[in-house]
Amino acid sequence: MSREINVTYRVTRAVPAAQQATWRALAAEFTAEVPDPEKVEVVITDEYDKVAGEYAVQEPDRMNSSMTAEQYRADRVDGARAVAKTCALADGQAVVVVGSALLAEGMRTAQHCLLHEAQHVRLHQHGDGAFAVHRRVPFALADQEITWECLWLAETVLDEYRCERTVHERGWTDPANMVGPGDVAGVVATFRSARMRWDVTGDRMRAFNDAFASLDRMAKILAYGAAGVVAGVIPAAAWAKAPVTGRLLDLLEDVPGTDVVVPREELVAVAGEVAKRLHQILREMGFNFFYPPGGGKYFEPV
Ligand SMILES: [Zn+2]
Repeated sequence: MSREINVTYRVTRAVPAAQQATWRALAAEFTAEVPDPEKVEVVITDEYDKVAGEYAVQEPDRMNSSMTAEQYRADRVDGARAVAKTCALADGQAVVVVGSALLAEGMRTAQHCLLHEAQHVRLHQHGDGAFAVHRRVPFALADQEITWECLWLAETVLDEYRCERTVHERGWTDPANMVGPGDVAGVVATFRSARMRWDVTGDRMRAFNDAFASLDRMAKILAYGAAGVVAGVIPAAAWAKAPVTGRLLDLLEDVPGTDVVVPREELVAVAGEVAKRLHQILREMGFNFFYPPGGGKYFEPV
């Protein structure tokens, strides 16, 4: 049995030999990071949205189970674009979709991004990914001041934080690939636009989708930022310059990277606390969302 990850190309234009050699070198580093490399396929593609969407809908645990493959978009609300996505499939299998344009950003960036994805695979194969962990332990929402929407986001925060923390701890940090206060400010601006759009149109569904797209992005940036601060690659004082940046720090700082297997009960407990903070941030950004006692969901601009 091969002890290497599988690398395949889904490209409309042939990949030059030199680039293939670079991908092979990166794949070898990736292989060294994961417990079960033979269950991993890295798909390099120049049709990232399409291919990432195809695999995203195969994941057994999804935040939005009605999303179709065609609806997947790499574009984020603040103009950022995803370049890689790990799709966690059944039985420890994983497909990592990587945009072939990543190499153009330089070897350091490619290494940072790819080895970050390798940590997602690691969590998945160790069985201690936080994403959907509430489905794997006894968990009731009733006694929490949170919603499922924010809990799913909180779980992604934990995974992103642990993966990125490990990247820094291993010395794979690409200084050009770091978040800063400006990224937080960029997302705050998208909340403001969503709020102004609501004031003009009164379109509640649109406002809900906009606000949650912004919260999703904010959650990830705060996770990356916390990982950088805790690992000492982002100066805490610089990070503190933007609003809300420190909000998750105290909850995350004691959560280890991917080397330590964290019990699911612990993960779900921290995720619940992170979810409460995300609700607070959403309120501060001008929106209120909760499940009223009588049932249903309530979303309104504050
Ligand atoms: Zn990630």
